[in-house]
Amino acid sequence: MTEQIVSRELRGVGIGLGVAQGPVARMAEPAPAPSDAPSTLGADEEQARVTDAVAAVARELEARGLQAGGAAQEVLEAQAMMAEDPTLADEIAARLAQGKTGEFAVFDAFASFRDQLTAMGGYLGERAADLDDVAQRVIARLRGVPAPGVPDPGHPFVLVAKDLAPADTALLDLDKVLALVTTEGGPTSHTAILAREKSIVAIVGATSATGLREGEMVIVDAAAGVVTTEPTAAELERAQNRADARAAAASAPLTDGALADGTKVPLLANLGNPEGATDAVALGAEGVGLFRTEFLFLSSNQAPTVEQQREAYTKLLAAFPGKKVVVRVLDAGADKPLAFLNDAHEENPALGLRGIRALRASEDILREQLTALAEADAATEADLWVMAPMIATVEETHYFTGLARDYGIKTAGVMVEVPSSALLADRILVDADFASIGTNDLTQYTLAADRLLGSVASFQDPWHPAVLRLIREVGDAGAANGKPVGICGEAAADPLLAVVLVGLGATSLSMAPTALADVRAALLQHTIAEARDIASAALAANDAASARSAAQQAATR
Ligand code: PEP
Ligand code: MG
Repeated sequence: MTEQIVSRELRGVGIGLGVAQGPVARMAEPAPAPSDAPSTLGADEEQARVTDAVAAVARELEARGLQAGGAAQEVLEAQAMMAEDPTLADEIAARLAQGKTGEFAVFDAFASFRDQLTAMGGYLGERAADLDDVAQRVIARLRGVPAPGVPDPGHPFVLVAKDLAPADTALLDLDKVLALVTTEGGPTSHTAILAREKSIVAIVGATSATGLREGEMVIVDAAAGVVTTEPTAAELERAQNRADARAAAASAPLTDGALADGTKVPLLANLGNPEGATDAVALGAEGVGLFRTEFLFLSSNQAPTVEQQREAYTKLLAAFPGKKVVVRVLDAGADKPLAFLNDAHEENPALGLRGIRALRASEDILREQLTALAEADAATEADLWVMAPMIATVEETHYFTGLARDYGIKTAGVMVEVPSSALLADRILVDADFASIGTNDLTQYTLAADRLLGSVASFQDPWHPAVLRLIREVGDAGAANGKPVGICGEAAADPLLAVVLVGLGATSLSMAPTALADVRAALLQHTIAEARDIASAALAANDAASARSAAQQAATR
C-alpha cells in the first residue's frame, strides 16, 4: 500500500502554496541541433540571414515584454539584449567565416556561452535556460518554422515542460494553464521567479515528470512539492477543498496581520526592485521587511553610483509613506555574486567573503550605499530601517550599526542567518535596533546543506527543530532586550510555520507578496498562547517532518 502511494508521487521544488488538478499537456521538446554540414550560401548571405533573424527575435522578445509588463518585461528585455550581444555576434561571425551555416553558427556560439554561464553556477547558471531559449528562437526563425512554445490542447491543462522560457511563462494564459511542472530548473530559475510573481501553481526540478503521459490526470501540490499521478476520488476532493480555501483566503479583506486575540503581527513584503511595490501594496503589505538591494545590480560590472542608488531607494520609499521599509545593504557572494564586490575565486563561496564581510573589504561601496539610503530617507516619508546581511559576530554588529548611525540611519539592525549570531542574539541585540532572521541561509548553515544543491534539498527544511531552536534563541533575546525580531526568509511564507515563528517570538513576518493572503488567514486562526503551544510541539520533534506534523496536530486540537 505504502509503496503504491510512494510510486504515484513525483517530487520537486514547489513554488508557492497552491494546489491544482487537471490533465497533462506536454511542451514539445526543443528542435534537434543543426548539423555541421558546410554552408552552400556563402558567408555574406549567411551573415545577412543571421542578422535579420537575431533582430527579429530581439524585437519579438521586447514586444512580448511590453505586453507582459512587470518583472517579465525586465527578463524579456534582458533576453533581447542577450540576442544582440556584440560578443556573441563576433562569435557567430567567426563561425560563418569558417563556412558554417547560420543555424550551426548560432547554435555553436550560444552553446559556448551557455557553458560559461553554467560553470559560474548560482543565479548566473540559472540564466543558461534563458540563453538556450534565445538560440532556439533564432534557429527556428532561420529554419522558417515556429519557435517551440506552449501547447494548446483546447481545454485547461497542467503544463509539463523541461523548463519554460521566460517568453513563454510571461504570456501564459492563466485561464488555460492550471499548473506548471518542470523537470529542470531550481527555485531561483526564471520559471520559478515568474511563477511566484503570477501566483501560478508550480513545481520545478521534478526530474521524474519526464514520464508523465499526455492527457493523464494529476494533482500538483506546490506546498508539498508533490505531483500525484492516478489520483483517487478522495484525493481529488481534498485537493479541490484546499484550492477553494485558498481562493477564499485570497478574496478575504486586506486586514493588517493579527492573531485571533488581536496580537499584531505586521505582514511585510520581500522585494527585489522598487517596481514590485505596487503589487505588494495591492496585496495588503504593511511595509517592506526585506529589500534585496543586490538584485538591482546583479548584471553591473561596476559599483552603482550614489545617484543611481538614491533614485532607486527614493522610488521604493516613496511607495510606502509612513510605513516601515527594511533595506538590506548589498548581500553579495555565493549564489548572488556581484562582479564589483566578489572578484576572488573561492572553493566555498557560501563560507567566503560574502555579505557584510565583502562590504567591509570594499568599505567605500558600503559608505556610498549608506549615503544614498540616508539621502533617500531625507527625501521621503517612509520609516527606513537598514540591516546588514550575514552578520556572524557581536563585533561585526558594532561595526555595522556604528557606521550606519554615522551616516544618519536612525534604525540599524542585523540579519540573523548564521548560527553564531542566533546563539549570541542576546548580546547582538543590546546594540542592534532589530534583528531579521533569514531562514534560507540559517537553515543552510545549521544543516550544512547548500541551498542551491538538489542532492541535499531534503536538509534545507526550516521546520528542522535545530533551526526552530535557534529562532527561539533570537525571539527570546528580542523579548529580553525589547527589540523587534522579524522573519524574512521563505519560512515566513508557509502559513503554519508562520504561526510557529510567531510562537517562537517573531514580531513581524516578511514574504513574497503573493503569500500574504494565506499567512494572514492562518494567523487569524490562533491566539498567541496557542501559537506558543504549536511552536512547543514542533520544537519537541526530532526532525523536520515530525515537527511539521506535530504542529499540524497541535493546530487542530
Ligand atoms: C535568507 O537567507 O533567508 C534571506 C532572506 O536572504 P537571501 O535569501 O537573500 O539570502
Ligand atoms: Mg540570506
